[in-house]
Amino acid sequence: MTKKNLVLIFIIVGIITTYIFHRDRFLIPVQKTEILMDTVVTVKIYGKDKNYLEDLIDNTFRLLRRLSIKINNYNKNGEIYKINKYAGIKPVKVDKVIIDFLEKSMALCRSTGNYLDISIGAVLKLWGFATQHPHIPDKKALENALKLKGLQFIKIDKKNNTVFITKKGISIDVGAVAKGYIIDRGIEYLKSKKISKGVINAGGDIRFIGFKENRKVLWNVGIRNPFKNDEYNVIKTLKVGNWAVVTSGDYERFFIKNGIKYHHIINPFTGYPARGVHSVTVCANSAFIADGLATAIFVMGKKVFQKNFYSKFKKIPHFRVVIITSPNEIFDTNYNIH
Ligand code: ADP
Ligand code: MG
Repeated sequence: MTKKNLVLIFIIVGIITTYIFHRDRFLIPVQKTEILMDTVVTVKIYGKDKNYLEDLIDNTFRLLRRLSIKINNYNKNGEIYKINKYAGIKPVKVDKVIIDFLEKSMALCRSTGNYLDISIGAVLKLWGFATQHPHIPDKKALENALKLKGLQFIKIDKKNNTVFITKKGISIDVGAVAKGYIIDRGIEYLKSKKISKGVINAGGDIRFIGFKENRKVLWNVGIRNPFKNDEYNVIKTLKVGNWAVVTSGDYERFFIKNGIKYHHIINPFTGYPARGVHSVTVCANSAFIADGLATAIFVMGKKVFQKNFYSKFKKIPHFRVVIITSPNEIFDTNYNIH
């Protein structure tokens, strides 16, 4: 090989390495925001061609919008609503995505010892947190509603693509897991279109594709201070890579009666708002798992989580939990468990 050729090869290798290390810098971001699933949803992606990215974001929102109707117990045009309506009456024909969503949700509920329980729609309805007038339910009514739950009453028929709630009065509430599931679907779509850097943020439930820079610099995600009436007041910042981070807090939906705060995360065994925790943040490889586990860990509380669930959940890729129990007590599995 001549000296000239050698120099040329060095130059080419140099250019390629520089490009690989700095290719993030050549990417331009495009983002869009819409109100969906009762919250502000932002999709931000990076790439080279602005028009292509804009079309892709539009398609992503079409997908998110479609799913947010389907996987929604309040939307009359969705299948979950219909499954609930025909509880105890007849099976309902559904799209495959509903079967997948319900199978995964039921498995996740079971893995949390049913602290997460999507079959407690009857109890949740009595509290009315999805309405303008949430209130403490009548004691007798709550006792009765507590009897109307159980995943075993949700029958999935994969051959005929139907779902049947076999007992009248039982209903599915997807509030604890729908957002996470829908974010994951959006991210999968973007990945299938070769997006290597981006994020879907649905009101603080977040999943990233790629890293902030150079495939190693992590994103900063602030955990809201649950003790301040200010959504921008941050109590702790987490470094997050190409995975999901989701928070459940007692400040999202609540009312105060006789000095007591009643919020929307309900203990399925008592029928009352879970006590002892103010927020739970979960990191995981999937937004769905992070969403479901944030709610579940909020309900079970720090002690039960540490004692009975941590060793099982820690196998989940990128798993990390931050539990806030008081202004000066922040439990973090990265530091507080050895
Ligand atoms: P957010 O909707 O504020 O992000 P979560 O993901 O924690 O919060 O979900 C809370 C919602 O989940 C409630 O509004 C209700 O619809 C539902 N829910 C409340 N408690 C439970 C529970 N123990 N199991 C399953 N779903 C629940
Ligand atoms: Mg949740």
